[in-house]
Amino acid sequence: MPAVFLGADRYRGSVFPDHHPLAIPRIATVLDLCTALGWLDPAHHRECPLATDRELAQFHDAGYIAALHRADAGGIPSAADRAQYGIGTLENPAAPGLFARAAGAVGGSILAADLAIAGHVVFHPAGGMHHGHPSRARGFCYFNDVVFALRRLEEHGLRRIACVDFDAHHGDGVQEAFRDDPRVHTVSIHEAGRWPYTGAAEDRGGGRSLNLPVPEGCNDTEFRLLLDVVVCPALQRLDPQAVVVVCGTDALSGDPLSRMVLSNLALWEAVDRVLAMAPVRIVLGGGGYNPWTLARAWTGLWGRLRGADFPDVLPPAAQAILGLLQCDLIDHEAIDPAWRTTLADTRNPGPVRGAIHALIAGASAGP
Ligand SMILES: [Zn+2]
Repeated sequence: MPAVFLGADRYRGSVFPDHHPLAIPRIATVLDLCTALGWLDPAHHRECPLATDRELAQFHDAGYIAALHRADAGGIPSAADRAQYGIGTLENPAAPGLFARAAGAVGGSILAADLAIAGHVVFHPAGGMHHGHPSRARGFCYFNDVVFALRRLEEHGLRRIACVDFDAHHGDGVQEAFRDDPRVHTVSIHEAGRWPYTGAAEDRGGGRSLNLPVPEGCNDTEFRLLLDVVVCPALQRLDPQAVVVVCGTDALSGDPLSRMVLSNLALWEAVDRVLAMAPVRIVLGGGGYNPWTLARAWTGLWGRLRGADFPDVLPPAAQAILGLLQCDLIDHEAIDPAWRTTLADTRNPGPVRGAIHALIAGASAGP
């Protein structure tokens, strides 16, 4: 079965104000790079359908959905909607086009589950909105598409499902949604001391959550060690029927909203290892606020999922796409020239610090 890339042209152009971290091009650049590399033929590419209001209401509050519709129609959210639903704020602005983007992420995640059950490995980079809450926008997330992917897998009869989250921020919305559901187990490696400030090592959710908050500067060696001795053994014990990976790219070196320093090779290898643990496999997107590292990471991830050969140096058409990117959050001098010419980073090994050993010791001590 071919791997499937779920995309949509609705993710071209930003609906976010210029100053917002999500104002950078994301999915559009990945689509363009994959096209330039010849990696997006029709056999591998599907469009994200929009989730209906009825589908959205299976997790989200009807009043919240209605408020997002009003905001999408061009209305400025009322003070009451701002206070009650968290929309129209600096963090979660309201703008025309936003509803379709959020509902498309959910429709894509539902379709991803169906395609994964049918045997495809699915990559849905517009998904991964792991902070979404039933009745509030949180952390740039409006609807929590990850919840919908996991629930759809449950509807297909699966009883042991793992959600593994490599985003630099704790996957709080997903953990909370499945707190009382024995079928879903969550694993999250994220930077300690970052918003949303949840996901401490002692936090086991409803008893099936594994949280690994890593110190700033987390390098490839430390990340890989956590995979080796904590995450992969935990997944082996679970023997999941399906895995859903949330693969935000904000844990990569160069991201302006985190201080982890992973190479994309470390991230890709982690995804490979987790996907090898189950027969039903979905990879979602997530955060990521450096347009170069995000585009290279997700394009390369898709290349690996579909079994493509990687060029050491990108062809001119692909370099031109990366050359046009801009980002206000990154100093000009901090832009690595290799971000414009290659897909794979050089590895970023480093010492294993005491905080990592303490996490390993705590995880093996059990709840
Ligand atoms: Zn994040």
